[in-house]
Amino acid sequence: MAGFWYTEKQTDNFGITLKVNKTLHTEQTDFQLLEMAETEEWGNMLFLDGMVMTSERDEFVYHEMVAHVPLFTHPNPENVLVVGGGDGGVIREVLKHPQVKKATLVDIDGKVIEYSKKYLPTIAGKLEDARVEVMVGDGFLHIAESENAYDVIMVDSTEPVGPAVNLFTKGFYAGISKALKEDGIFVAQSDNPWFKADLIRQVQKDVKEIFPITKLYTANIPTYPSGLWAFTIGSKKYDPLAVKEERFHDIDTKYYTKELHNASFVLPKFVKDLTEE
Ligand code: SAM
Repeated sequence: MAGFWYTEKQTDNFGITLKVNKTLHTEQTDFQLLEMAETEEWGNMLFLDGMVMTSERDEFVYHEMVAHVPLFTHPNPENVLVVGGGDGGVIREVLKHPQVKKATLVDIDGKVIEYSKKYLPTIAGKLEDARVEVMVGDGFLHIAESENAYDVIMVDSTEPVGPAVNLFTKGFYAGISKALKEDGIFVAQSDNPWFKADLIRQVQKDVKEIFPITKLYTANIPTYPSGLWAFTIGSKKYDPLAVKEERFHDIDTKYYTKELHNASFVLPKFVKDLTEE
């Protein structure tokens, strides 16, 4: 991919294009096309099946918002699971919480882990931490085999295509509820309201039928489709908008703050409508 513009088509009629200086790695793995590139604007980037996954420059937004909203909402998150997340960014953020005793990552594609360690060291650098267990396998099966095990589960998967298609189904969310402890919380990246309104609507409907507290929150991620990214949180007991002030311990972040924790749940009308149908 050296020296040219790389375009991600986000719909049939719209996309983003970015300047690539150097191809770092390209491989058709058993699951997806894996591309790593050095880009002019965003540093090193990971693409899977032609879709932006993460970039050195803006990765912190997504990884902080997937991790810290549920981990500050839960009063004592000791056992955490990340489904997907092979680039290691969510795990890096999870480990900033001292209460976390164990963080398990289950990604279906070991090549994502291997090449993220090699070309995205600032993102993948904590995957060998003593508190982390990395497993290569299908997150859907891992959830199906788990019961009453986790305090917090984060689904950091690719889009609902290919290996991730099962990770956006009601059956998967029911499995997550079973895999969580009786006061567990889960968060799933839920794509964007501009191009995937129907997906967000469906996920909200499915999760609401399983979790008594279900909400949507957003963040600004410039390299993701539309730049407005949504996250679904399902909680059995703790309300993310009722976190006690003293719970917010100091933490090293570049995007997440305790004020933004609450503000991220304030939705534009066209997005709020998706949560109410
Ligand atoms: N932050 C990115 C986003 O929002 O699209 C996702 C990053 S991470 C690279 C996505 C990971 O999900 C990939 O490494 C992929 O291998 C993994 N994945 C896809 N389907 C999976 C499955 N069924 N079980 C476990 N991991 C899966």
